[in-house]
Amino acid sequence: MNFSHTFIPTLREVPGDAVIASHRLMFRAGMIRKLSNGLFAYLPLGLRSFRKVENIIREEMNAIGSLEIKPTVVVPGELWKESGRWDAMGDALLRVKNRQGADFVVSPTAEEAFTGIVRDELSSYRQLPLSLYQINTKYRDEIRPRYGVMRGREFVMKDAYSYHCDDESLDEHYQAQGRAYRRIFKRCGLTVIPVKADSGAMGGSGSEEFMVESEVGDNTLLLCKSCDYAANVEKAECKLDYSPRFSQEMADRAAENIPPMEKIDTPNVKTIDELCTFLETDAKSFVKTLIYRAVNVELDLSKAPGCEKLAKHKASPGAPETYPEAFFAVAIRGDLDVNEVKLAAVLKASEVALASDADVERITAAPVGFAGPVGLPAAPVLLDQTVTGMNDAVTGALEKDRHYIHACYGRDFNAWLTADVRTVKAGDFCPVCGGELYEKKGNELGHIFKLGRKYTRSMGVSYLDENGKSHVPTMGCYGIGLDRTLASIIEEHHDEQGIVWPVSSAPFHVIIVPIKYQGQVKDVCNALAAELETAGLEVLLDDRDERAGVKFNDADLIGIPWRIVVGDKNLAAVSSGGTPAPKVELKRRSEKEAHLADLDKAAAEIAEDVRACLAC
Ligand code: ATP
Ligand code: MG
Repeated sequence: MNFSHTFIPTLREVPGDAVIASHRLMFRAGMIRKLSNGLFAYLPLGLRSFRKVENIIREEMNAIGSLEIKPTVVVPGELWKESGRWDAMGDALLRVKNRQGADFVVSPTAEEAFTGIVRDELSSYRQLPLSLYQINTKYRDEIRPRYGVMRGREFVMKDAYSYHCDDESLDEHYQAQGRAYRRIFKRCGLTVIPVKADSGAMGGSGSEEFMVESEVGDNTLLLCKSCDYAANVEKAECKLDYSPRFSQEMADRAAENIPPMEKIDTPNVKTIDELCTFLETDAKSFVKTLIYRAVNVELDLSKAPGCEKLAKHKASPGAPETYPEAFFAVAIRGDLDVNEVKLAAVLKASEVALASDADVERITAAPVGFAGPVGLPAAPVLLDQTVTGMNDAVTGALEKDRHYIHACYGRDFNAWLTADVRTVKAGDFCPVCGGELYEKKGNELGHIFKLGRKYTRSMGVSYLDENGKSHVPTMGCYGIGLDRTLASIIEEHHDEQGIVWPVSSAPFHVIIVPIKYQGQVKDVCNALAAELETAGLEVLLDDRDERAGVKFNDADLIGIPWRIVVGDKNLAAVSSGGTPAPKVELKRRSEKEAHLADLDKAAAEIAEDVRACLAC
């Protein structure tokens, strides 16, 4: 393709809001233009690379037997009401009405659409397992779209959904998707870190995210220095730095030598730091207690103190019963923080957040800052497992300016529930091998998830087994963002001058740059382009009437893997015997040095290299 026939508006300047390399370079290379906040148009060069990524993903999905379909982007709101997400999705969901006033959503994801389709077709176990996917537009009304296409409002996702009779079948396909994801990212030239991820409140039983390291990443990852443990902080666990008690007897024995619990005056002392100074001790001796409000709790609270009389609610006919709102006291060792995602998973809640001051005062019958697990009747006490190792603790006494000292778990207070809700940090110990954990920032490119029966149950999907008995299938979902993958390739493959495309996602394989596109040079360029295209390569010929320097800069900026420079001087080269030996200059974008090649061998050299790269 000739440069003058395409539309590659390269720029020297970058927009002020482009803070990361991929955003700057996609603009400057003329790959994208912004229509509005979070809305980007792909121009021809950008679309070519986008299609490369799309095809890699398609090939790998097809290879594991997932079947491509093309549902609509606009989906009846009814399906979202059935699943309960019409309300639960909040403002990220773009809801629209048609002229008859019927509700629709612009898909942010497609569990509902796929499950709606499958529900109408599924009757027998013989149709399962079934894995379907689409590569299609999504819209999420992100509060803060940023970093170009990394976090847009409209983007394209490959999303697959699979339906199974049993957990073994789901697990088999989940593993196959995981392997396909690893191949996709390898073929794209991306270094990804697969991490254990939160599998959500409602029935999910396994989840893995594929992260790329990024300074501006939204996710914190915990990795082990000694083994391959890697987890999103939302899910990360660590080895306990004490031995937990397993029985009342052990707790009683541990408390035997501790003086009786005592209430003391702590005038004007509220924060843990202030208490540490006041009592000359450290934060590890405190039981910190926080009051949380949880929404749509699926746990049975009928015997939980303070919750016994709460009424239950059913979002839709098939949905599980939940408590729309409940309050919990969460106690944790004073030097640690509560991880709200882990807490929501434990409570099977759709959302948890710190309670308002008014709610804290109502539940603790004290001003904010004096909550504690001893004698708290108005809310169930959830203890982080670290607290079950504490036997001489300081804690709030549910009274202004008063704290308990010598409080012992098992002797002076107990738990309604004990769980791991701590936020793991760098320096904590690996739950697998005990090695030291460290942190990285990451951006999520893909996510695979065992959903269980959340959607199939609430949307009334069923099949008959070989005995004619009806069952609800179990389900998995598997997503990759194409725009974010493309931007991440540029993040990993660029230099000062521009993009350095891996062959697999390059918009063209070769750029031919004539010093001046005229006379013999022009003929040679055209012949070379034809030869390369016949060999199956994608060629961009810079036929513009520009200075060579401008053309070289643009070639570096748009980052085509191979550059051929054609000029009169090298074409006039002669061999030592005096016979004509025309040469052209070849350069890989990833290397500094160019080399001269015989004109008649140049195309073959490049074709061989491109084929080898595409084969890996
Ligand atoms: P994030 O936490 O980054 O918002 P998510 O967990 O909500 O992402 P999923 O619902 O798991 O995303 O969607 C699957 C994939 O879709 C993500 O891994 C990501 O690659 C892509 N994606 C999600 N939101 C966006 C967005 N706003 N812009 C571009 N890609 C996105
Ligand atoms: Mg995700």
